[in-house]
Amino acid sequence: YSRLVPPTIIMSPVRSIASYDKAFVNGEWVSAKSSKTFKVLNPYNGEVLSNVPDMDSIDVQDAIQAAKIAFEDWQFTTGKERSDLLRKWYNLLLKNQKEIASIITSEAGKPLQEALGEVAYGNSFIEWFSEEARRISGEVVSSPVKTKEMILVKQPIGVTALITPWNFPIAMITRKAGAALAAGCTCVIKPAEDTPLTALAVADLAHEAGIPKGVINVVTCDRGNAPAVGKVLCESPDVAGLSFTGSTEVGKLLYQQCASGVKRVGLELGGNAPFIVFSSADVDRAVEGAMASKFRNCGQTCVSANRFLIQDTIFDSFLEKIKSKMQLLVLGSGTDSKTNLGPLINETQAKKVDDIVQDAVQKGAKLLYGGKIASHIGERFFEPTLITNVTPEMKCYTEEIFGPVVVCVKFNSEADAIEIANNTRRGLAGYFYSNNLAQVWRVAKHLEVGMVGINEGIISSAEAAFGGIKESGIGREGSHHGIEEFTYVKYMCFGNL
Ligand code: NAD
Repeated sequence: YSRLVPPTIIMSPVRSIASYDKAFVNGEWVSAKSSKTFKVLNPYNGEVLSNVPDMDSIDVQDAIQAAKIAFEDWQFTTGKERSDLLRKWYNLLLKNQKEIASIITSEAGKPLQEALGEVAYGNSFIEWFSEEARRISGEVVSSPVKTKEMILVKQPIGVTALITPWNFPIAMITRKAGAALAAGCTCVIKPAEDTPLTALAVADLAHEAGIPKGVINVVTCDRGNAPAVGKVLCESPDVAGLSFTGSTEVGKLLYQQCASGVKRVGLELGGNAPFIVFSSADVDRAVEGAMASKFRNCGQTCVSANRFLIQDTIFDSFLEKIKSKMQLLVLGSGTDSKTNLGPLINETQAKKVDDIVQDAVQKGAKLLYGGKIASHIGERFFEPTLITNVTPEMKCYTEEIFGPVVVCVKFNSEADAIEIANNTRRGLAGYFYSNNLAQVWRVAKHLEVGMVGINEGIISSAEAAFGGIKESGIGREGSHHGIEEFTYVKYMCFGNL
């Protein structure tokens, strides 16, 4: 039903990119108390897009206090009231989707078409949670005693800290903030230093939609201040929970910091997704799925296929087909409609991908295509790369590559494939292609991951639960599970009846 409701027309587009030069705290645009700022760069050409406040531990305290005061009322709004406000926010996001996509392309480098796809995906979480806000319900327990009634109600946990990465500048925010607000929580968002402008535009529209001051706050800071700001967010007694997406290393640190206050923690960390192609699979479809999974956002996604495990009988055919598709990929500016692969987010990431590839080559891997930084275009561009003859001691086998590199491993039996796939401390997504029904069920059950794509390379959806096991994280985002991360169960016992 809700998908059929036409968006209401509201006349207020997001502002120009350079005008996002303040953080957003308590419904106001604010500078850092120190007046320090940092530059946000376009990764395509290094152009300065804006200067935003480089906040520190003092500034973040103000944001926490604003969120704490806002929580006093927001927690007691009805589900319907929150739903209506989230719907208004969603309508504004829809109306401004091109402008937001253009900000994403400018600060993250991804092709505009992909940025539009991300905006649609990101917006879908606000729509989804606007619906879910009305469906938070409890339970009436069957009491064992006539004189007592027992009920379980769900209440919002409180102020939440949302720390997000740069690879999906809108979706990582809406996936968390949509759920938090729908549940009745307020939030302090700390976006990645590479992509704060999208976060500010999204908060701007939340404010425009009528979401009360203090319910959403965005603090910006450069990499140097991130540990101090993160520590306050994790350790403040006024913050009830943390939801973090990013590297496993930082996730583990924040988890420890939250332990002192026994905080609710949600972690979406790195993956090391296996992408298995069995001999019964349709190889053309598998190659299509592989291309989508690997090259979306230039490989900078946590669910990106990291290790391609191909059965020996179809190994050569898979390599040949994927190589011919890779040869068609065009590197360039995200604003050019011919571009398939934009730059990596920054030079550090480009060097990291280069290091992983050079390590494999030095240890004896066979380079079939690409293999280096595409310096003729820019130092942040990496060539689409195809590697085989890899072994477990190579970094490309064990680490999350986060770049446009296809690493292919040959296997012989289903048991081998499952053993290789599960031989990692990560367990976010996994994919496999097979047309053998019994095998499909067996493999889906045996893969040690939180999400499985079966004959499918793109799996994320607001309706489904996103998250990992092992060191890939705790908790789920999206679906009704996503909202539960932001509520707690309160047991009420009515006596003397
Ligand atoms: P990161 O984990 O360092 O950064 C993610 C977020 O955490 C950013 O907002 C950052 O400012 C913040 N942060 C960094 N250090 C912090 C600290 N000590 N306390 C609090 N917040 C802190 O990720 P990155 O450096 O941007 O990327 C490094 C690697 O992480 C990538 O190569 C990739 O493997 C992985 N990564 C994974 C995801 C994912 O979606 N799971 C996203 C981005 C990066």
